[in-house]
Amino acid sequence: MKITHVAVDVVRVPVDRPYVAGARAVDANWHVLARITTSDGVEGVGYIVYPRPDLMTAIGHAARELGETLIGMSVLEPEAAWDRLARRGDWVGPGGLLHAALAPLDIAVWDAAGKTLGQPLHRLLGGYRDRVPTYGSDGLWYSLSPDELAASARRHVDDGFDAVKLRIGKEPTAEREAERVRAVREAVGPDVRIMVDATESWTLRQARETGRVLQEAGIAWLEDPVHHLDLAGLAELRRALTVPVTGGEHLYHLDAFRALLEARAVDVVILDLARVGGITPWRKIAALAQAHRVPVCGHVVPEIQVHLLAAVPNGHLVEYVPRSAAILAAMPRRERGALVAPSAPGLGLELDADAVQRYRVA
Ligand SMILES: [Mg+2]
Repeated sequence: MKITHVAVDVVRVPVDRPYVAGARAVDANWHVLARITTSDGVEGVGYIVYPRPDLMTAIGHAARELGETLIGMSVLEPEAAWDRLARRGDWVGPGGLLHAALAPLDIAVWDAAGKTLGQPLHRLLGGYRDRVPTYGSDGLWYSLSPDELAASARRHVDDGFDAVKLRIGKEPTAEREAERVRAVREAVGPDVRIMVDATESWTLRQARETGRVLQEAGIAWLEDPVHHLDLAGLAELRRALTVPVTGGEHLYHLDAFRALLEARAVDVVILDLARVGGITPWRKIAALAQAHRVPVCGHVVPEIQVHLLAAVPNGHLVEYVPRSAAILAAMPRRERGALVAPSAPGLGLELDADAVQRYRVA
């Protein structure tokens, strides 16, 4: 169970249908993929994925250099491994690029721990259940017209989702934002939950006004209405609206989540596995949220987040965006609106080695 080898690759996976997110054209999902090997021949895999190339090669280099720190450590001591990695990079951290480089390594350590112990991660990390409700969030971008957006949402529902999430926040008026929601409502019927993600696009004043209009239009949650550091603004919105306000995917540290929770700024905490630095800190943030009676959700990487959210009692919803499907033998299966956590040891995911080789860029 001692780590004998660490390899890190940067893998650029082209998307089937390029799209525009904000001002950026997206044509590929960039991965930093870590693979660790142990003295008894176990291979642990971990990765982060973003739909942008910026700094991903640099993060890959950083992960490669940090990964050397793990040689000789046991995969059954992930806390010690995380601590050592974080200390090595703390002069450029905490957070930011350091966490992004640390996360794939930490995830790979946990995957190897699960494989060493013969247990799937959702059980090893807590064992609360084996599946988590999920919502469709892929292909529901700002760049689509209301009709295209409605058609995309309808495809999600036909594919078995009973909840979808739209990106909004780029329209000039509240009414125009609501038109997008109404177009989707018409296409999906009354029973499908429609969440919206405003991706921090608004001032507090805009958020207050648009939030009220969208609430009337029947949204199920309002994500990231204002900047993630505006805790007072988020808390004010929570008081002004009845619809749940959600956020947290841009936060890095346990301390930042504590401030978010103590400010009573959100109804649901969303965790980005790369920004928080992997599974080891994720668990602490989830427990902190539980202490505040707040549920937690994952940001993308559904195939990994499903294990974490199934492990804890306050795991709420998996965001289904299968950005890594092309380098995996299979995605976890979906059943009646839920994503089922793989039952094989560790993450229970198998890399498609040919695809990784084909798409590897560094
Ligand atoms: Mg979001």
